[in-house]
Amino acid sequence: MNIHEYQGKSILTKYGVAVQRGYVAHSPGEALEAAKKLKAETGTGWFVVKAQIHAGGRGKGTITETGSRGVVLAKSLEEVPQKAEAILGGHLVTLQTKAEGKKVSKVYIAEDVYAPGASEPKEFYMSILLDRSAGKNVIVYSPEGGMNIEDVAHNTPEKIFKEMIDPLTGVNDFQCRRIAFNFGLSGQAMKEMGIFVKSLYNAYVGCDAAMFEINPVLKTSDDRVIAVDAKVTLDNNGLFRHKDYAEMRDTTEEDSIEVEASNADLNYVKLDGNVGCMVNGAGLAMATMDIIKLSGGDPANFLDVGGTADAKRVETAFRIILRDTAVKAILVNIFGGIVRCDRVAQGIVDAYKNIGDIKVPIIVRLQGTNAVEAKKLIDESGLQVHSAITLQEAADQVKAVLEL
Ligand code: GDP
Ligand code: MN
Repeated sequence: MNIHEYQGKSILTKYGVAVQRGYVAHSPGEALEAAKKLKAETGTGWFVVKAQIHAGGRGKGTITETGSRGVVLAKSLEEVPQKAEAILGGHLVTLQTKAEGKKVSKVYIAEDVYAPGASEPKEFYMSILLDRSAGKNVIVYSPEGGMNIEDVAHNTPEKIFKEMIDPLTGVNDFQCRRIAFNFGLSGQAMKEMGIFVKSLYNAYVGCDAAMFEINPVLKTSDDRVIAVDAKVTLDNNGLFRHKDYAEMRDTTEEDSIEVEASNADLNYVKLDGNVGCMVNGAGLAMATMDIIKLSGGDPANFLDVGGTADAKRVETAFRIILRDTAVKAILVNIFGGIVRCDRVAQGIVDAYKNIGDIKVPIIVRLQGTNAVEAKKLIDESGLQVHSAITLQEAADQVKAVLEL
């Protein structure tokens, strides 16, 4: 589950990670109040107004309606509500969004942390994630912060460093020193970096994150080390332990069909093709997508209806697949092990009649217990449903209806 920068920063703060402080605002008026509060607390006179969307590259992104950037500096209290107004309600297009962008309904009003001082501020890149092959967490970092990390990796791969962290021991002091050294830090800044890395790692483990990406990590001109940005992805499987984090979910940021499917407890992932798939079991779903590809088609989705493919679930699954207007055919591929094929077939026939007016051809392949009875039921239903026994037959029928 992805969360917003302001929510990610609230988690980091809980674990003692120093962050660029700020408050979330939903209107220009709230933005001004947030800035006043920040001024009173931190003494800052300059502020940054940051669009809150689930996508990076906001600083270089543009609000379609007003031309404003997604992250802008305000050099006085008075400028804050104006800058917020140019962002709120608009659509922000970045390298990571679709062409139409994402609607912005919140901004984060933050203190300016780049103020000139005793030494130059420096931007670094740092992320933490699981390295599956090593069976360890890994801190990936680069002295080239603030920019697109994919470009750094492509053009100057020698500037990307990795520190493997044993989950049993956590981050060691020598690892902190090595990271600080590779950042070119010494003295107080090196010490601060050590504290930052350790607390960031504790936060990563503590909140059951799947990924942290802090770009940039800033060494301020007075040698503090703080998170300016916070991209936090929480592990859905750990959310039951963190009810307060589960509430951070912003469904307006997610694909609406995926949200509907997850509410119905269906594992659905939208893809770009035109053949809708309804399958029970993730492995069979993968195999079904493969066979669609091999026959020249393109899956429109991954959908695992799970072990209990009863009439209600089949109907919900049909409705979800049909909401995707790109779907030109639906392939149902269900193995009747625990559930009997004839019951699934009846479910399909009932769902078809309930929904009514289904225009796309449906190919049904039921295999397992009572498969023959199921095929008969489908064939005699009088509906525009094609039945198949083998997976190849099903794929051939998909090909035929799509005229590939
Ligand atoms: P992203 O573009 O979505 O990754 O958003 P970031 O939170 O990383 O902000 C983008 C850029 O805005 C940063 O790389 C900084 O260069 C700039 N920025 C962020 N905070 C401040 C600030 O306090 N002062 C100034 N002057 N620039 C900032
Ligand atoms: Mn960033």
